[in-house]
Amino acid sequence: MEVELVQPQGYCAGVLNAIRLAYKAKEENPGKNIFVLGMLVHNKTVINELTSNGIITLEGEDEAKLVSSLSKGDVLVFSAHGHDPKLDELADNKGLIIYNATCPKVQNNINKIYAETEAGHQIIYIGQKGHRETNAALTISKNVSLYDTKLLINYQEITDKSPLVINQTTLNFLSLKDIHDDIKRHIPEARISNEICSATRKRQEAVLSINPDVDLIIIVGDKKSSNSQKLYEIASSHYRNSDVYMVSDLEDVKKLNLENKRKAAISSGASSPLYIVEQIRDYLLTK
Ligand code: SF4
Repeated sequence: MEVELVQPQGYCAGVLNAIRLAYKAKEENPGKNIFVLGMLVHNKTVINELTSNGIITLEGEDEAKLVSSLSKGDVLVFSAHGHDPKLDELADNKGLIIYNATCPKVQNNINKIYAETEAGHQIIYIGQKGHRETNAALTISKNVSLYDTKLLINYQEITDKSPLVINQTTLNFLSLKDIHDDIKRHIPEARISNEICSATRKRQEAVLSINPDVDLIIIVGDKKSSNSQKLYEIASSHYRNSDVYMVSDLEDVKKLNLENKRKAAISSGASSPLYIVEQIRDYLLTK
């Protein structure tokens, strides 16, 4: 089979920084317990590698309770896509050693939301309900209203004539445009701040430029990874004559029916390890 690797591949800067920071926390604190609150980055392989190196992921609905369960002197790493700001104070009061892996792009959004709400503005936040980055934004102020990506918002909540419209960094850039248009129809003076990060946008644009004669498109990414899901969403709706699959690793690919496939393209999310992509490419080349 012919195989094209759709560029870019490998970790984005934010993911790379988060992984390096977690290992740095371990190195700088020998003998201490090292915890990460939630998935450091949205990839199970990465999380399993951290666990096997003694860096434990804490997962649960009630994150304040998880932080409270730690002991003075434990090390806590905050993940790449943000966290409830109240947890900083809680961790500090508990005497935890804190490392913050929040991606600068996510932090930039958080800073804008603080500045706007402190200036008395309302925020329309476009994001996926339940996603860590969205949850973090919504906890900043009661003046942040969610426009969830299924095209839902209660416009009656918005009394500000020129609210700031801001979004989760890893959304589908095509759908975001429709949402912006919808908001502008309801609130003509709304100020739009498009915050899709360049790592997400470049991958989405690259997927749209895949040669349409491929009969197989593989998106490598974790189901919890928003930017990987969006690549899958875009590829599925754009290449209706190709089979499009989202896979976590080579084992998933081995389960696919690849009979009669001649030409494949592989794209991957910003938190997918490059070696997994290469394993999949090498396997497909033998088919
Ligand atoms: S996908 Fe974008 S926002 Fe998320 S960690 Fe990477 S650069 Fe940062």
